[in-house]
Amino acid sequence: MKTIIEPFRIKSVEPIYFTTREERDHILQQAFYNPFLIHADQVLIDLLTDSGTSAMSSNQWAGMMQGDESYAGSTSFFHFERTIQDITGLPLVIPTHQGRAAEKILFSLLGGKGKYIVSNTLFDTTRANIEFSGAEGVDLVCEEGKHPSLPAPFKGNMDTVALQKFIQEKGAAHIPLCVITVTNNSGGGQPVSMQNIREVRSICQAHGIPLFIDACRFAENAYFIKQRETGYSDKTIPIIVREMFSYADGCTMSAKKDAFANIGGFLAMHNEVLAQQCRNMLIMTEGFPTYGGLAGRDLEAIAIGLTEVMDEHYLQYRIRSTEYLCNKLIAAGVPVMQPAGGHAIYLDAKEFLPHIPVDQYPGQALVGALYVHGGIRSVEIGSLMFGKYDADKQLIPAQLELVRLAIPRRVYTQSHIDYVSEVIIEVFRDRDRIKGLAIVEEAPMLRHFTAKLKPIQ
Ligand SMILES: *Cc1c(COP(=O)(O)O)cnc(C)c1O
Repeated sequence: MKTIIEPFRIKSVEPIYFTTREERDHILQQAFYNPFLIHADQVLIDLLTDSGTSAMSSNQWAGMMQGDESYAGSTSFFHFERTIQDITGLPLVIPTHQGRAAEKILFSLLGGKGKYIVSNTLFDTTRANIEFSGAEGVDLVCEEGKHPSLPAPFKGNMDTVALQKFIQEKGAAHIPLCVITVTNNSGGGQPVSMQNIREVRSICQAHGIPLFIDACRFAENAYFIKQRETGYSDKTIPIIVREMFSYADGCTMSAKKDAFANIGGFLAMHNEVLAQQCRNMLIMTEGFPTYGGLAGRDLEAIAIGLTEVMDEHYLQYRIRSTEYLCNKLIAAGVPVMQPAGGHAIYLDAKEFLPHIPVDQYPGQALVGALYVHGGIRSVEIGSLMFGKYDADKQLIPAQLELVRLAIPRRVYTQSHIDYVSEVIIEVFRDRDRIKGLAIVEEAPMLRHFTAKLKPIQ
């Protein structure tokens, strides 16, 4: 088989920024060891997130010029609506400015004290919006999903036995929604199988619990199903996607992921009553229902991107380039989550830095080391992001201590990725010198975005 190449050529380029190691040492200190506080022009390869960082296509840019900026009834909205209806089969489409705006609306309506939202794994903003409503978020990922180094085809699956048990314990009346995140971002970008979606659907249906898909990476998930699940290798991506959504009562989506857009999101659903309540809230917080929080040009870019993302040449290149990086690291003995996720690779910081205890945030320490050594920006997905405190102010750590290197869509080339692997391998060889961190300042929710830290001497 020949090399799988980038299925595009480059028409417009932007510079990346070189700094010295000494400069980065200083920059990281100034940023309180938090990559979110580093300025983008001080980063060489930015793998902080794949969110809103995609390169748009020439078609999307052309669509931007055709955006209809009418306040009500914009033609761009109808293009957006029609595209989402076609792709998902969900009839009621509500635009929002991001995925979390869709979550905020949904959980303000469905959440509340004494309620539980069950999921394979809730993404951080999803969990925060659930908790802010007073409800509790419950992650019930399958056993394989809890072991980073154990390769399995669908590590994003929900544990259906645990789901049934949980419903029996708490009562369906207290569970207003089940959410399946595809692919499972906080659980390593691992896919969910069609069979699992089908089983969760039937359990939820039996108890009258609606099922929503957190659809940010629906196309990547569909490609994994095509590659790995029996009976799907001959089906097209749009057919697989349509089947995934056929089991759902609705979805939330961030268009900053698998829609190649720099901003945007939406809610889509079957339930008329809920949709009307959502639209009423939308008008208060986002805007009129034919634009949500978006400009007409954004609606166009999203509609075009949603169609482009299902191209199999693109998906093959996308999934392969992530796997390529993962395999290089595995070959060098670096502890990395296996198999590769769709949009990112995840270093296992507990294994990488066994000398740093979890309450000294090994993931965040590794993030800092990758930046200082090679100018690479990554993000901790561990106890800084998900840790809580008990009554004695002792850390209740997260299940996993991961460092995510998310790959922006259509942005970096193979040589960039080769460089990234070289940096990670060099840091791994010198890992004994990396020190743990302590928090000096933090916000009560989503603390990882703004927390300030310092090295422990
Ligand atoms: C990014 C993301 C969100 C939130 O979307 P935003 O557009 O960043 O607000 C929700 N769920 C998952 C799985 C995501 O990856």
